[in-house]
Amino acid sequence: MIRDLLGGEPSLSFEFFPPADAQGRARLNATIDELADLSPTFVSVTCGAGGQGHDRTRDIVVDIATGRSFPAMAHLTCVGHTRAEVDDLLADYAEHGVDDVLALAGDPPPDGTPPRGDFTYASELVDVAGARGDFSICVAAHPEVHPRSPDRASDRRHLADKLERADFAITQFFFDASLYRRLVDELADLGCDKPIVPGLFPVTAPKTVRRFAAMNGTAVPEDLFARLEAAQPGDRRAIAVEAAAVLGQDLLDAGAPGLHVYTMNRPETAVALVRALGLRP
Ligand code: FAD
Repeated sequence: MIRDLLGGEPSLSFEFFPPADAQGRARLNATIDELADLSPTFVSVTCGAGGQGHDRTRDIVVDIATGRSFPAMAHLTCVGHTRAEVDDLLADYAEHGVDDVLALAGDPPPDGTPPRGDFTYASELVDVAGARGDFSICVAAHPEVHPRSPDRASDRRHLADKLERADFAITQFFFDASLYRRLVDELADLGCDKPIVPGLFPVTAPKTVRRFAAMNGTAVPEDLFARLEAAQPGDRRAIAVEAAAVLGQDLLDAGAPGLHVYTMNRPETAVALVRALGLRP
């Protein structure tokens, strides 16, 4: 279980999303092959906005859990899921050797239809998975405060509350290490010292990341994004890796238990980042 793997050497993890077609799946398999050489501590697989594509998440996670030497964590969302569906999915995961879930509220459906499902808050999924007793449970944290939170204090209170019943958190991506230090300090003030693994997004596609950042309430560093936008696409990786390596090192120096890298299902940038950080030989 992932919770047993945190606390020693810095963890290294990679996030993937479930591709829409067979070609994307073949590309993802090649990416996983390449990243496996870096001996990740674990990997995780997202669940589509609106809870869509859950079967694809399930199939990828089970394939990795049964065929690789590192654990795969399934993202599980409130949005789009009934209680019965969550119970069935957890039973299916347990049966297939998947011990790790990331319990999330989930993004709403992209087409604007009202979200369906029996749950509202991630903490409710934490309770359902926790009651089974056979899962290591991760939750999401937002260094810059979740965009739906009315204020910082309530955001931190709800986060500390769900973390008390979970094992660790992974953060939304962000670009300033002081935000991470502040988050950890604020949680400590609330009596919470569970591991918080920062999410690191090396930006090779600035336009796309600007869109994600606007949705998440993440501030983007304009100087870095201006450099990336002015660069030829072929030159962006070097800039992205250099900036992400500086941030990653700052986060490790700040005491982060590891780094979680958003890969966009491509290996090249993640490999270059891990090498730049010297995290693997
Ligand atoms: P919650 O913890 O439920 O919090 C949401 C809001 O409700 C916050 O403002 C919180 O303060 C508030 N709140 C919490 N509990 C209560 C309560 N009891 N009463 C009142 N207010 C409360 N989305 C996907 O769709 N699929 C994915 O695979 C996915 N993966 C992600 C991975 C990571 C690492 C991260 C950081 C995010 C991911 N997301 C994903 C996005 C996430 O689902 C959204 O950010 C979502 O809007 C919030 O999720 P949460 O789990 O933090 O929500």
